[in-house]
Amino acid sequence: MAGIAGATDFDVAIVGGGPVGAAQGALLLRAGLCRAGRVLLLERDVPSRAWPVPPAHDPADLRVFAISRASERILQHAGVWSALAAQPQALSPYERMHVWPASAPPRGVGSLHFDAAELAEPNLGHIIGNGALQRAALAAFETAGGVLREESLQQLNFLTDAVELVTETQTVTTRLVIGADGARSVVRRMAGLGIESQDYGQLAIVANLACEGRHEGTAWQRFLGDGTLALLPLSSGECSLVWSLPRAKAEGLLVASVDEFNQAVTEASDRVIGDLQLASERRSFPLRRVNAERYTRERCALIGDAAHIIHPLAGQGVNLGLLDAASLAEVIEWAIARGESPGAGIALRRYERWRKSENELMSFAMDGINRYLAFGGGAIGALAERGMSLIGRNATLRRPFAMRALGLEGELPRFARRSA
Ligand SMILES: Cc1cc2nc3c(=O)[nH]c(=O)nc-3n(C[C@H](O)[C@H](O)[C@H](O)COP(=O)(O)OP(=O)(O)OC[C@H]3O[C@@H](n4cnc5c(N)ncnc54)[C@H](O)[C@@H]3O)c2cc1C
Repeated sequence: MAGIAGATDFDVAIVGGGPVGAAQGALLLRAGLCRAGRVLLLERDVPSRAWPVPPAHDPADLRVFAISRASERILQHAGVWSALAAQPQALSPYERMHVWPASAPPRGVGSLHFDAAELAEPNLGHIIGNGALQRAALAAFETAGGVLREESLQQLNFLTDAVELVTETQTVTTRLVIGADGARSVVRRMAGLGIESQDYGQLAIVANLACEGRHEGTAWQRFLGDGTLALLPLSSGECSLVWSLPRAKAEGLLVASVDEFNQAVTEASDRVIGDLQLASERRSFPLRRVNAERYTRERCALIGDAAHIIHPLAGQGVNLGLLDAASLAEVIEWAIARGESPGAGIALRRYERWRKSENELMSFAMDGINRYLAFGGGAIGALAERGMSLIGRNATLRRPFAMRALGLEGELPRFARRSA
């Protein structure tokens, strides 16, 4: 790492090579903040190195992400976007977003419609498969000179001016350890960073669906009164379903026959794009909210789901994680410029103050939407629906919401502000 001397094996060690951890490593190297060979990435389950993989052939792509403009820019800086763009059908741009409650007709008064054209933008974002994004980020990390090892972290020891990482086969030292190891983060636990969490008692069902009508390049979302149904447009012409609903009802739908499921999902969508039919297996994810009480301690920082998990109804989890990664890179750059170690508390506390407030605001907003719109009803639910209808009729009121969906609101790190 520029300006940092020392005898550690690595300058930075990242635990967890999911989309966020792998992009973090690639960004540190591509931005010139670390030298080739000085960033270690430990991933216990590295997907096959075959790249590119046709999207439809990777079961990991059943869970997709709606990637914001801010995330697109971060991925460009990290060298991940060009790898994705080179692969046919890996990127599915969407131009419109349409949201409506169960009490209103799909396209009538009471619905909320965003169009990229109103913002003079080419699209509102891209739908990308989890597997495609992870593979592209791992490939970009290795191409930039990162050291990827398929190993699981077993133990962390905080020494006076370094951190020791113990895996099944080796012990290495680093100046800074970054926990990007997801919901059940071992780094978080071993660093003694506590959490506050809540089980939503819901499952999200994901699957690919063939649609009778065209999806119109639109991300469709209906608040059902007992959950939320989202249909995300794929460049193949199919839609990716994300249907969150109470656990018992979801479990019933997971074992229902294909015909029963098709009928239920078509009804839940109010036939906004006609009959829907399963085109893949069904998968489910339990939903909970998690906030780490602290994101950092000396020589250790958490990013992505290791730091926070929010309800997926607005598709923001990876987007927040990539903003964490870009903010941490900027703080590391600041530390280096001051002659500090990247693991110095003063730098990491800056990162924590910055990202914790932004992430908690989003988590709070998702809780409110889940409670009062997705599980509507009652006076507050009715008020929330009226508010949505009002926003839907007024372009000036709609703009800040559209900017938030693009990820261009809030205090953005420099890697999210402009393209590479
Ligand atoms: C149904 C659903 C839909 C979603 N839709 C969206 C969306 O549209 N947009 C969006 O932005 N977000 C979305 N999200 C959220 C998104 O899935 C998460 O925020 C994202 O996957 C987090 O990425 P990550 O890299 O932080 O963690 P993960 O993807 O969980 O990666 C963690 C990695 O760490 C590795 N690991 C764990 N422990 C160890 C260890 N001890 N040693 C080594 N490696 C380890 C794991 O193998 C894994 O690869 C959705 C979530 C769900 C459930």
